[in-house]
Amino acid sequence: MTVDDSAVRNAVADDATDPAVLHGSECTVCGTVGFPAGTYCSRCATATARPRELSTRGTVWAYTVQRFAPKSPPYVPPPEGFSPFAMGYVELPEGIRIAGILEADTLDDLQGAPATLIATQPVPRFLVLPEPTADQEDRR
Ligand SMILES: [Zn+2]
Repeated sequence: MTVDDSAVRNAVADDATDPAVLHGSECTVCGTVGFPAGTYCSRCATATARPRELSTRGTVWAYTVQRFAPKSPPYVPPPEGFSPFAMGYVELPEGIRIAGILEADTLDDLQGAPATLIATQPVPRFLVLPEPTADQEDRR
């Protein structure tokens, strides 16, 4: 089965002229990747980390649903008013997990779903396209 990623392309195109990318760092001694970027390695504590761009695709590692409006400020509700949203960690191929907002058509069954970075400010934001379940596949 292939995932129709036209929603990903549209979301990325609408976000900005430059594709979203997160800047981390990688240790030149042990290869540990960190985010946000830093000079010191979080594993071997040497000042040998160099900047690197992180992968923009990963999978949802864990998430929860924010069902009430957070305190404002700092939260800025959208013009149409608050609606529940998902937030969680996306695991990247580098082996690190990035906390961010998860945009999806559903708030259920996002665990393990593919996620694509679509914005970096004010916090990382990922578009999540859950794989259809076997039941949903049968109805197609
Ligand atoms: Zn290191």
